Amino acid sequence: MALTKQAMAAHAAETSEFRREPNRKVVALMGNPNVGKSTVFNALTGLNQHTGNWPGKTVVLAQGQYTYKAERYTLVDLPGTYSLLSRSEEERVAVSFLQAAQADCVVVVCDGTCLARNLMLALQVMELTTQVIVCVNLLDEARKREITIDLRALERLLGVPVVGTAAGKREGLSGLLERIRSVTDGFEQPHPKTHETQEYGGQPLLQLLENGTQRQADTAAKCFVRRAEALAGAAVCGGDSAYNRRQQKLDRILTGKLTGIPILMLGLLIIFWLTIEGANVPSQLLQYVFDALGRLAWRAADAMRLPQILSSALLDGVYATTARVVAVMLPPITIFFPLFSLLEDVGYLPRVAFLLDAGFARCGACGKQALSMCMGFGCNAAGVVGCRIIDSPRERLIGILTNCFVPCNGRFPALIVLGCALMGGRGNSFFSAAVLTGCVLAGVAMTFLASLLLSRTALRGMPSSFVMELPPLRKPNIGRVIIRAILDRTLYVLGRAVMVAAPAGLIIWCMLHIPAGEAACAYWLAGVFQPVGAWLGMSGAILLAFLMGFPANELVLPMMITLGAGEPDGWPLRMILCTMVFFLFHWPCSTSVLTIKKETGSVKWTIASVVLPTAVGVLLCRVLTLLI
Ligand code: GDP
Repeated sequence: MALTKQAMAAHAAETSEFRREPNRKVVALMGNPNVGKSTVFNALTGLNQHTGNWPGKTVVLAQGQYTYKAERYTLVDLPGTYSLLSRSEEERVAVSFLQAAQADCVVVVCDGTCLARNLMLALQVMELTTQVIVCVNLLDEARKREITIDLRALERLLGVPVVGTAAGKREGLSGLLERIRSVTDGFEQPHPKTHETQEYGGQPLLQLLENGTQRQADTAAKCFVRRAEALAGAAVCGGDSAYNRRQQKLDRILTGKLTGIPILMLGLLIIFWLTIEGANVPSQLLQYVFDALGRLAWRAADAMRLPQILSSALLDGVYATTARVVAVMLPPITIFFPLFSLLEDVGYLPRVAFLLDAGFARCGACGKQALSMCMGFGCNAAGVVGCRIIDSPRERLIGILTNCFVPCNGRFPALIVLGCALMGGRGNSFFSAAVLTGCVLAGVAMTFLASLLLSRTALRGMPSSFVMELPPLRKPNIGRVIIRAILDRTLYVLGRAVMVAAPAGLIIWCMLHIPAGEAACAYWLAGVFQPVGAWLGMSGAILLAFLMGFPANELVLPMMITLGAGEPDGWPLRMILCTMVFFLFHWPCSTSVLTIKKETGSVKWTIASVVLPTAVGVLLCRVLTLLI
């Protein structure tokens, strides 16, 4: 049986980090992936957990608080899971939370557009606790498809409170809050109409989860499916088949063998083109404003008679570096992240995973790796944590070790600048967009290659099967997505970059002013690295910037410029190309390395995760220097 006692204990320990506060009721949110749990969570707590239209996103517990009618609640968003009887990480976390933390009430969020599949989980949860509320979400989508759900009948048939919501539109939330209150306060006592245990092997579900055999679990699963279908059959009617046909047609195009990949490439091309085209002028304008502000600050410092060395350290060091980071990064990420988030919200990313699934399987890896790889485009550390959705430890390790092959937020702005530099900084943003699309494809191709290499050598084994759930394509909530992308991603990344840029600016300033022999320390160090840098087709200053940028990739490009490499526009072609290649393939940033260590628990694999992309980068740079 998949859910062993040890596994449950391990996760119980993990989830027991959750502390119950006195005078706070604990409400757990459960549900299939992608049914709107995070949206309900955010709407109730006001916290901003990032939501996206793709499965397996929530792999750790998110918790938030809210107060309703003077009663205080802690809301816990459990990872999305289709069933308690499969054997995924998410399911283990969810079950052990229910055991260890003893929620006062469990709200099972269901997708109103496919209730039968969602009710299966609700039925299983009802076997573990009586304190259940079923929240039928996405009612607006259901209405659009002419699906009618008789919530009262469902409530009668299930024996637990049923609430209808359209959380995305904030509909029905007050009803949900009220029912949670009445269940947790004991005004309302749910009486779940559970199975006769004989139906699935004569033992309670919890016992079955702990001790049962795989065959017993399969029998039980079938039994829940039958019951869920019968319930949905009794409570749901309608369903616009024209809508479904439209969805299927769209899916055939988006995931088709001939059409899928060209559409993906075209999509990337358009996103990058919009980013580059839109970011150019604002970047220059920002730099102009920052320069003017810098001059004003110098005048103020002189007027205040600040010591020259202090003004220089603060203004030439801290301010100039930080301003440069903001000017270079802010415009592209303000455009890129909302566009990427829109794709996420529409539900396109699972289609990308679906397209790449067969490729990963052929490389001996798991299809779910496509999802963690997509997360890596945002942040590699997040992608590494995202690999928890991969069940087999061998395949998870492959996912972790190869995640840094795709460029993250911190590397995109630099790749954009270098892509523009390929044209000498002159115009043709379409060409630069094509180069960036090429970078992304190179990252994906290298992920495949490295996965294949690992699965044939150190991490040999058979790929496991993976059933991918394609959530429906949805019209995105454009305003909300843009605001969330700017708040959650753009400002987060910028904030992180500025936090690192400010002290790094001071360090660089010191290195530029502390003498080492004849020259300043920075130039001396750049000179030391020059032979290796040149051997790799770059320069000593560029290599030094890569090394000093270990805390955050965002810093590498501004450092290159400050350390004496000059603006990329003036670099020779070979230097630009090799630097781009090394940006794509070098050691992960410090946050990612720490995350890898935490996730693998192994120094050996952490070192491997640093060595692998670096070796690829060195090899490719060498090949390029020999060719160009
Ligand atoms: P989770 O995986 O269950 O946490 O789901 P999310 O909260 O991330 O939501 C998945 C997607 O469904 C997102 O694109 C949400 O904007 C969207 N969504 C959530 N609730 C609703 C709703 O009530 N109506 C509509 N139309 N979309 C919703």
